[in-house]
Amino acid sequence: MATIGRARAVAPVKDAALARFIAGMPKAEYHVHLEGTLEAEMKFALARRNGLQLPFADVAAMKASYRYHDLPSFLAIYYDGMKVLLREQDFYDLTYAYLAKAAAQNVIYTEMFFDPQEHLKRGVPMAAVIGGISRARRDARTRLGIRSQLILCFVRDLSAQSAMDALDTGLAFRKDLVGVGLDSDEAGNPPEKFRAHFAKARAHGLRVTAHCDVDQDDTLGHIRTALLDLKVDRIDHGGNIVESPELVALARQRGMFFTVCPTFSGTLRKGLATPVDVVRAMLDAGLNVTISSDDPAYMGSEYLDDVLIRAADRSALTRTEIVTLARNGFRAAWLPEAEKQAMLARLNAYVQRADHS
Ligand SMILES: [Zn+2]
Repeated sequence: MATIGRARAVAPVKDAALARFIAGMPKAEYHVHLEGTLEAEMKFALARRNGLQLPFADVAAMKASYRYHDLPSFLAIYYDGMKVLLREQDFYDLTYAYLAKAAAQNVIYTEMFFDPQEHLKRGVPMAAVIGGISRARRDARTRLGIRSQLILCFVRDLSAQSAMDALDTGLAFRKDLVGVGLDSDEAGNPPEKFRAHFAKARAHGLRVTAHCDVDQDDTLGHIRTALLDLKVDRIDHGGNIVESPELVALARQRGMFFTVCPTFSGTLRKGLATPVDVVRAMLDAGLNVTISSDDPAYMGSEYLDDVLIRAADRSALTRTEIVTLARNGFRAAWLPEAEKQAMLARLNAYVQRADHS
């Protein structure tokens, strides 16, 4: 997340045919925080089930409190909201609800983030967190046909030791994890703080990704460290890279993928006379962009279709570019090559059918 406004009503779509094309298209999503899919309605249901009192009269009052102006003020609301998640069934319900929404939007594959430190510090065991998520993943694959994997994120503004403890605890559930990530407040928490964590994760065969939020202090330094030092496989956000031809060349040479969330991190402003549209600038720079919804429950309940349709308008995306974004989505997957090719074939078949209808 970067500079953040209030949740908005969905804007009218200029091109209804393109919106229908997006809605029917097989898609993948990589940058979605499970705790960020915790809708207000579910918070009330979980609070009731767990005997907790929420400081809001109803869902509308809770949603009205989602007012934030920057990353720290967003995170305060976000972390407070997840306190209702206590038991294995809570994590199951949260995960299944997201996967059901995603499947309904023709998302056929997703790699989801979760923030275990925030749960461990409230006394929730890792077995309840990963157990509930993994059970929901299995059920959603069987019942809804959506394939998913799980990425353990380090909460970068907590201590390095806390992150290492979470990694060590998480490694007991190694088979349920595909990778590690790095999220939360970037200010004062550069990627090198987690050098040892990323090296250890790699040694255990996990893939690695890291948030490089837009317009942070020393943003380009953080992107450089993530690429060269942490040796990330992907970058989450990373839009400021377009300000450095050298880093763009490096990312292109490595075939690096970027998970971009235009809802609230779609514009570069810092030090610029004219704001820059992230998706447009990254595509024009020849970078491998994928699009995701980030924390949809806190961002107007806009899930991937809504985000893509809005991006088509704001970044003036052609249908060919939309297909490129979707294709990048499957190419970026941390899956065996044969599975990626099967998903790409589904996308190609959809595009061919649409071209001839
Ligand atoms: Zn994020």
